[in-house]
Amino acid sequence: MDHAAIGHYRAYRPRPFTRSERDTVTVLFGGLHWRAERLIQGALENLGYRTRILPGATKEDLLTGRELADIGQCCPTSFTAGNLANFLRSEAVRTSAADVAQKYVYVTAGACGACRFGQYHQSYELTLRNLGMESFRIFLLAQNGLDQGAADGSGLELNLPFTMGAIWAVLVADLLQDMEYQVRPYEVNPGETERVMRDAVQYFYEVFRTSPLRGGKAGVVLWYLGTDRFLKALGEVRRSFERIEVDRLRVKPVVKITGEFYLQTVEGEANYNIHRWLEAEGAEVYPAAIAIWLDYLMRYAARDYADHLGIDRLARLKLGAVKTAQALLRFTYNRMRGALGNVPHELPDQRELYELAAPHYHGRLSGGEGDMLIGKALWAYRHKKAHMTCELSPYACMPNTMSVGAMAAVLGKHPDLLYAPLEIKGDAEVHALSRCQMILAEAKRQAQREYEEALERSGLTPEKARALYDAAPGMKRATYRVPHCGAAGAAANLVLHLAGCARR
Ligand code: SF4
Repeated sequence: MDHAAIGHYRAYRPRPFTRSERDTVTVLFGGLHWRAERLIQGALENLGYRTRILPGATKEDLLTGRELADIGQCCPTSFTAGNLANFLRSEAVRTSAADVAQKYVYVTAGACGACRFGQYHQSYELTLRNLGMESFRIFLLAQNGLDQGAADGSGLELNLPFTMGAIWAVLVADLLQDMEYQVRPYEVNPGETERVMRDAVQYFYEVFRTSPLRGGKAGVVLWYLGTDRFLKALGEVRRSFERIEVDRLRVKPVVKITGEFYLQTVEGEANYNIHRWLEAEGAEVYPAAIAIWLDYLMRYAARDYADHLGIDRLARLKLGAVKTAQALLRFTYNRMRGALGNVPHELPDQRELYELAAPHYHGRLSGGEGDMLIGKALWAYRHKKAHMTCELSPYACMPNTMSVGAMAAVLGKHPDLLYAPLEIKGDAEVHALSRCQMILAEAKRQAQREYEEALERSGLTPEKARALYDAAPGMKRATYRVPHCGAAGAAANLVLHLAGCARR
């Protein structure tokens, strides 16, 4: 037996990215939607990092990922690894592989976990090896901190200014995205929402980039919690949205997007442009907020600490800290939401998501979105937040496969819950979209029925409802918040509101 050929397993460990390199090395990142990426870029640049957002992943990236990394990996890994590889290749053609390895580092999510999330570093390492760029540096951010201690040296400091900036950027981006998707399907002048949103994101990029951060560790936290800088900026954005005229009497099904984190978050070829496709098919999209995932991670951590009460003497302290952080996250989200007139959706209560999912999916099964896919589908159904849930499941994803299986039991109990689990392979678009179209057709029928029932309940005809709406121009502003009157669709809620549901 040739022992020389056998080597021990070693975890991927990049050479350090040092503080002195920060002025010359560019941090690459991506994998979120464009609004979140741009605002995070502003927050990182504020801290002195040079940054570059990777282009959106394409089918070509998927094929590159399959070619260079392990073929059996889940499709988000193929997309992101291929996306990075193609970027590095194109840069290396302009300069050289050695130059690219020196000029850039890549930061992405990856952690020890129940699913393949825990093996991301190996997929990336294999990709780099097959690309002939082993010396390129990749740093993985774990769900619970910095993985592997890889970012030794202080080139990349995962400190409080970094974390707080990134979280605040994500919260603002979530709210802007939610607002955009609630307005665009109803805009009277096509293209207006898009223009306002592009301006708003650019404006917020500058707000983050030029933030006058103050204080040390605690000072930064207090600054973020206490400043009205972001609320004022959201107020500005609200005024821009106010000028958009909408017609919310258009009957449209609301489709809630859930699924694996990457696929539900990105907007592009990686998920067949599902957001835009649904809108083009006549739906209102209810996008997936990243904040819900952050909230879930804290719920999960809190439960873990609670289990260690009486075993770990610091468990109570840790439990208190994570619960406080969770409360502050929700408090901040709600404050920001308030600055946008409470038009964006609220964060669902994590306790409720857990309880809804518990009979079908064990809350301790971590990996991916855990029990949230079941919880969110039932939450949207119970509270009439959407007519249909579209779950984006990556090909070969372990947690999503389990969720889809558990949903079979949920659908057995609630046959009228419209649920479209789409397996996303990246190269089977027609199959996935036609499946979605079938459920969407039923969602459209449900939205129409709901609208007609609202008219009947309120004693209005479509013409009378239109006349009442025309007589209240304030309601035609994109920032007017139609109260939830027990219907999922905007048109049905508006009809009930016009008839005075708010007073009943
Ligand atoms: S959740 Fe699914 S797609 Fe995401 S890393 Fe885990 S196995 Fe892969």
